Amino acid sequence: MPARMSADEKNEAAAAALPEGDGEFTPTLWSVTGPTETKRPESRPGGDGDARATHETDAAADEPVAAVPLSKNARKRLAKQEAWAAKKKAKKEEEKALKQQKSDEARAAFAAKMEAMTDAERAEYEAERKANRERRMKEAEEAKVKKSAALRSPYTVVLDLEFGDLMTEKECRSMAKQLTYCYSANTKAAVPLCMYFTGLGGELGEALLKSNPGYKNWAVHHKEESYLDALPERRGDLVYLTADSEHELTEFKPSEVYIIGGFVDKNRHKNLTLNKANEQGIRHARLPIRDHLKMTGTHILTVNQVLDIILAQIELKDWDKSLERSVPERKQAKENTEEDGKNGGDGELSE
Ligand code: SAH
Repeated sequence: MPARMSADEKNEAAAAALPEGDGEFTPTLWSVTGPTETKRPESRPGGDGDARATHETDAAADEPVAAVPLSKNARKRLAKQEAWAAKKKAKKEEEKALKQQKSDEARAAFAAKMEAMTDAERAEYEAERKANRERRMKEAEEAKVKKSAALRSPYTVVLDLEFGDLMTEKECRSMAKQLTYCYSANTKAAVPLCMYFTGLGGELGEALLKSNPGYKNWAVHHKEESYLDALPERRGDLVYLTADSEHELTEFKPSEVYIIGGFVDKNRHKNLTLNKANEQGIRHARLPIRDHLKMTGTHILTVNQVLDIILAQIELKDWDKSLERSVPERKQAKENTEEDGKNGGDGELSE
């Protein structure tokens, strides 16, 4: 090599000396200055190339590697990345321009349409647009009023969200989803319920916030504390709904407050809500499923199914119809199936 070679010339000479398609990082390039990379060379299957390229220990691997010139492959990779980034940017700009063009065209078409109209037509068209706008605003306002009217409903239901610590993260997410269904069903119901979410201070509150940050604006009473503290004046009216109760519910009354356990546990925790109600000295009852619906498997329903049943029963005052409407067909058994024979049709829990 000539003694007076510049660093760049040395680099070029070294790169040119590489055989075409040389996939390996070449240690001989370490001695020359030039473009550098601080990333460790990627390990390849077998790890052979990596071992040859670096003699670092695993501990040293976490430290930034001393500046080394780029290998031919690294330069190729870098060029590829740059080309990809440029392509992405160009595509974004193209999309933006297209969007702008579309909105310009729509505006121009609208202006042309207005231009082509007679004064009378234009006035009629504008009046129509105004009426549409007002109708949409009125509908939104009515929906808002209906939602908040739920808070004054004579029927009260509590969703007890104190069980987050007994559920996996996935179960908490699933519960959060069920609560969203519950809220949505309540806003659409013929007779909405006054809903309390209690025990929001725990894991379930967090999961709900994560999955649906807007829940804080829902027309429900949000309570960090337990229903015992949130509704002290109604302690005597509380009825915990639990499939494990020996008492069967006959009707929903405004004079009672029904609690649903915010629980997704695949019945891992048998009797949990029943025991909680007994310990707290509050009444409990199960839904009258066994007399009104032949079901396959378990009589334990999900939280949103229970809420749907309450909404349907308050509206229809007919258990057969309410259960039929709220329990998915796959949970309902055909009459006189083997399942009936096995369970004597008495709704033994079988999970
Ligand atoms: N092992 C849990 C089951 C959770 S199911 C428990 O001990 O409760 C979710 C909730 O829905 C229950 O806590 C209960 O409030 C309600 N629920 C489900 N099936 C029911 C039924 N057949 N009767 C009354 N409430 C029921």
